[in-house]
Amino acid sequence: MAHRSEHVLGVDQLGKLIGVLARKGYEVIGPTVRDGAIVYDHVESAEDLPAGWTDEQEPGRYRLKRREDMALFGYAVGPQSWKKYMHPAEVRLWSAERQGGTFRILNNEVKPQRPHALLGARACELAAIAVQDRVLLEDKYRDPIYDQRREGAFIIAVQCTQAAATCFCASMGTGPQVSGGFDLVLTELIGPEGHRFLVATGSDRGVEVLTELEAVPATEEDRQQAEAGVEAARQQVRSIDTTGIKELLYKNFEHPRWDNVASRCLTCANCTMVCPTCFCTSVEDVTDITGDHAERWRRWDSCFTQSFSYIHGGSVRTSAKARYRQWMTHKLASWIDQFGSSGCVGCGRCITWCPVGIDITEEVGAIRDGGKDGNP
Ligand code: SF4
Ligand code: SF4
Repeated sequence: MAHRSEHVLGVDQLGKLIGVLARKGYEVIGPTVRDGAIVYDHVESAEDLPAGWTDEQEPGRYRLKRREDMALFGYAVGPQSWKKYMHPAEVRLWSAERQGGTFRILNNEVKPQRPHALLGARACELAAIAVQDRVLLEDKYRDPIYDQRREGAFIIAVQCTQAAATCFCASMGTGPQVSGGFDLVLTELIGPEGHRFLVATGSDRGVEVLTELEAVPATEEDRQQAEAGVEAARQQVRSIDTTGIKELLYKNFEHPRWDNVASRCLTCANCTMVCPTCFCTSVEDVTDITGDHAERWRRWDSCFTQSFSYIHGGSVRTSAKARYRQWMTHKLASWIDQFGSSGCVGCGRCITWCPVGIDITEEVGAIRDGGKDGNP
């Protein structure tokens, strides 16, 4: 990588990094603790970061727990992904006021006031951003909202040094090592040498920011500790065998496992809301009671809602079976035909935040190995 040179920053320099980014005009977004979860939000200083917290995740279960140290990035991923900022859940496309016999368009909210600096992006999340770039910028039609938010974003990646029980990025080839798509990448190191970060640059902007911090050259011990941390995060209990997965799913449209999963699925759409690559939206027009004011909103939608597949007269996917099958087959198979990569980066959010604990890794395994009743 052209810019990669490694330095070390003391933990006290993280506040300074946030300050430098703010001074350069960025709104810094990072992990914070709210409502019992680690969520992305505006951060003013290093004090806003989740010092000493980690997450415990299982199918349908998420809990925060105290760590024995004061790691700032000692968790895996929370319910939100960066799509909250790049591809927001709700955008007012325009509003209009009646003036005489016509309507005047009043505004078009697409651009954030300040570009975002995203602090704490994991390897799987960078892979998800690359997937959304492909879908929203590099397809036939560019999405102007995503474009404006993505263009100015400064990305500070943080390598994972531990995995949650729901992570499976290693089997998807998207992590835990960060390999590109960042301006700066940090690896948090805690040990006898103190609490510090190994830092490498990935762009000229990253180099500019790093020169404003008091970084010292990394030692061989720093590098080895960082590698050992990433290696520890590679030990993941879940995985998907992606060998021939497209063909596997295409030839199993009628596998009995789809009935089995449909009997558990609530079609609540949580899995699509938390997924960092799901991008579907619907457009809704609203007016006030007088009809003098009108607005057009774009909102996240989901293949799990019945209305999403409504085509003049009815939905084409009325059953939970059809909707779950659509979601998983698109993610793992037809996405490859459509966009040239998998639509799943192995972040595990859909497993953790499914209220009934449906696990995509288990569902793929059941289709690969399952008998007639769909039970492995
Ligand atoms: S399908 Fe699930 S594991 Fe894969 S990227 Fe989406 S939320 Fe993460
Ligand atoms: S798989 Fe789980 S999260 Fe997704 S729609 Fe079904 S019940 Fe909801």
